[in-house]
Amino acid sequence: MRFFVGMLAHETNTFSTIPTGRAEFEARDLHYGGELLEAYRDTGTCLGGMIAAAAAHGIALAPSLAAAAAPAGRVSKDFYAEAKDRLLADLRAAGRLDGVLLDLHGAMVVEGLDDGEGDLLRAVRACVGALPIAVTLDFHANVTRAMVEAATLLHGYKTYPHVDMEARGREAAERLRDVVAGRVRPTVAFRQPPLLPPIAGQLTARGPMRRLYDLADAMERRPGVVSISVFAGFPLADIHDAGLSVYVVTDRDQPMADALADELVETAWAHRQEFLHTALPVEAAVARALAADARPVVLADIADNTGGGAAGDTTGILRELLRVGATDTTVACIWDPKAAAACVAAGAGATLTLDVGGKIDPSHGAPLRLTGRVRTVSDGRFVYKGPMMRGLAGRLGPTAVLEVGGVKVIVVSHRSQTLDPEMIRFVGIDPERERILVVKSSIHYRAAFEPIAREIIEVDAPGLSSSNLARFSFTHVRRPIFPLDSL
Ligand SMILES: [Zn+2]
Repeated sequence: MRFFVGMLAHETNTFSTIPTGRAEFEARDLHYGGELLEAYRDTGTCLGGMIAAAAAHGIALAPSLAAAAAPAGRVSKDFYAEAKDRLLADLRAAGRLDGVLLDLHGAMVVEGLDDGEGDLLRAVRACVGALPIAVTLDFHANVTRAMVEAATLLHGYKTYPHVDMEARGREAAERLRDVVAGRVRPTVAFRQPPLLPPIAGQLTARGPMRRLYDLADAMERRPGVVSISVFAGFPLADIHDAGLSVYVVTDRDQPMADALADELVETAWAHRQEFLHTALPVEAAVARALAADARPVVLADIADNTGGGAAGDTTGILRELLRVGATDTTVACIWDPKAAAACVAAGAGATLTLDVGGKIDPSHGAPLRLTGRVRTVSDGRFVYKGPMMRGLAGRLGPTAVLEVGGVKVIVVSHRSQTLDPEMIRFVGIDPERERILVVKSSIHYRAAFEPIAREIIEVDAPGLSSSNLARFSFTHVRRPIFPLDSL
């Protein structure tokens, strides 16, 4: 058997003013052909799982493009066209294939094109005719009818933090193999209830998404059920199809797929209030962290999560920490290439005064003028060691630790979510000895920080990944929808 394999992933926050072009893909991930296999083999990613499953079952792979960029504003028309053309050209040149494996995000919005993956999958379908296509999608995919119709199988992550990417990649490859061999003939039910769950209410450790996945797990054990995905959706994309969706695949049994999908939707709707979420204001959160006995306490800057398209450069929590004179505290990480370059140029040990953060979006706070000592400088290369993306190489670009009083600020050049304590360790700080750790992340930090944190406090600071959806003006999402409308 021989499968084509490729990846194009972006989570687009349509409220963001940060563009996503070729340079942003180059900064994160842009690999071609055999490089894809080298970069992702033995990693905790969907591609890692697909490659492992192919090796285990003797399936040959025809690798194409693998491209991912940090979540931000719309993907440029030019880069999307380039990536799509490359994938289609590789498909046409691939020779005999039995199936197509794609690792997509599902919430990619392109300039002038709201449903990026729907457009891409339609083009792939037109290219390969009846060949089966299996796709892994992020838990935050805003799934559309076009994606469902063009693909044979969609496999969404079942966890947030996303710790099952490798498992989903394996599953997609193995189910595709079943379809090719004629063991499974998929019958699909897709539902889009009027629900737009905020990010902070989507974790799968507890709450409504846990309830939905417990139900889905029980359903998946029934004979004839192939796979079930409940997509929480990405709410900060103001497009028609944003929000939660349910996707059920059975083997030659449409009525069962429909019945299971309806039951999942009824459950999501009945528990919709549980998706709503409140975090502590900045002053109260910092005061509570300072009053804690045990260390470290994690202050989660959930609204400035670059993983949700926020800038990663807001300074509200840092400002308050300095105001109250916090010590043994690390802020990880503030995205400010200019400040990082100034610190690197000054060198370790130098003292300098500079403006840090607050440079992207004035509505979320101003830059902070700091005078501090450069503690360490680095090229920003590290390896993820936590449950998410284990083994994958991370790049933060030129990176400096600026020490201001008792607060160490990690300033980075590439936007990156703080989801692994390794992003603190690699610059010479032991996160477990700190009193307070500020992380810019909504949920993902929990996978690797919960085991070391004595307490976690979610902070309601300003930012583009806020879970208070009333702060955003939506004009394109289908209405009415909960919680924007009282249904
Ligand atoms: Zn996600």
